[in-house]
Amino acid sequence: MPTSLSTMTANEIDGTYSRKIAVLGERVLGGGQIDHAEAMSLFELEKHGDIFDLLSWANRVREKFKGNKIHLCSIVNAKAGGCSENCRFCSQSSFYQTDAPKYGFVDPEPVFEAAQEANRQGVTALGLVAAWKGLNEGPMLDEVCDRIREISEGGKVRADASLGIIKKQEVANRLKSAGLECYGHNLESSRRFFPTHCTTHTFEDRLQTIQFLRNAGIKICSGGIIGMGETREDRCDLAFSLREIGANVVPINILNPIPGTPFENNTPLAPLEILKTIACFRLILPRREIMIAGGRTVNLRDMQSMIFLAGASALMVGNYLTTVNQPVEKDLQMLRDLGLDPSWDKHDFSDQEEALSTVVADRSATGCRREFCDETTAGLGRL
Ligand code: SF4
Repeated sequence: MPTSLSTMTANEIDGTYSRKIAVLGERVLGGGQIDHAEAMSLFELEKHGDIFDLLSWANRVREKFKGNKIHLCSIVNAKAGGCSENCRFCSQSSFYQTDAPKYGFVDPEPVFEAAQEANRQGVTALGLVAAWKGLNEGPMLDEVCDRIREISEGGKVRADASLGIIKKQEVANRLKSAGLECYGHNLESSRRFFPTHCTTHTFEDRLQTIQFLRNAGIKICSGGIIGMGETREDRCDLAFSLREIGANVVPINILNPIPGTPFENNTPLAPLEILKTIACFRLILPRREIMIAGGRTVNLRDMQSMIFLAGASALMVGNYLTTVNQPVEKDLQMLRDLGLDPSWDKHDFSDQEEALSTVVADRSATGCRREFCDETTAGLGRL
């Protein structure tokens, strides 16, 4: 028999994890870093009370390093569908039968209009995104550079792009000369999980592309997709890879299973698991922009506004490549209600420079597992 049936009796609260989370949170707030084992202990939190403790620390870390500024990005699908790659989450792959649109590289007018609209909504950046394996030298590169130059010289929004794999330094240099400031190239998942979602190119191809971009002086937007069937350790490894490559913006996409793709029947992640993942990324990457992108509306539903409590400092607004987002006005209202500020005169990442040079100069301070650092370093060649 229970000793008491009264619902007024308080259960004893186990504060063990609360204190451990606080130790890690305090360290990050003080400019320190957490190592892989410590980060894994956060990814493995199960109790709601502990997860909410973690969110609260992630929120403090976001406020300390990002203030109340929220960076807004938008994208335009500059070439849709018919992609030669077999990424199993993607509706634009030619390997799968989906309802996603298909068209060739866009003319200047729709890009100009998208830049105008982004500016009207106070969005900082417009990314040109193309569904193809990558970009080589030739007439298509010339055309891409023209579109980038038009956005850049328009002066309304920052010109970004996500154009797949780059195999030559000259291509990255041309993009930089055209005015490209930031290139989106997700690592997508851990090195270990990568072949589960794509076999037509490799994790190393992606690291190599990022190396060319960094050499050219282009900022890196690189993150991944969660909910593909990866483990928590895969998510943790991805976050440490992103710390190692010095990603400036880290988009976290949450799988939106598209009918016709191999992942169409994947079980969705629970909203608290998603928020916990965002919070872990914030503690691993305290100064970077952590941007919540595709899949947030469908997966988080009423809990979308909690991404900022979990440490997000950036938001992809407007529609995604092939799926619909909630209206920009609703996102802007959400930010206002939270007392957050999406207005940037020019978001140039200068708030991250000190942190990035620290990572490059003192790799031992990153605290990641030795073999993991060596793997990533080998993939990058230098850094
Ligand atoms: S994710 Fe990109 S590279 Fe992969 S299939 Fe889709 S468009 Fe192609």
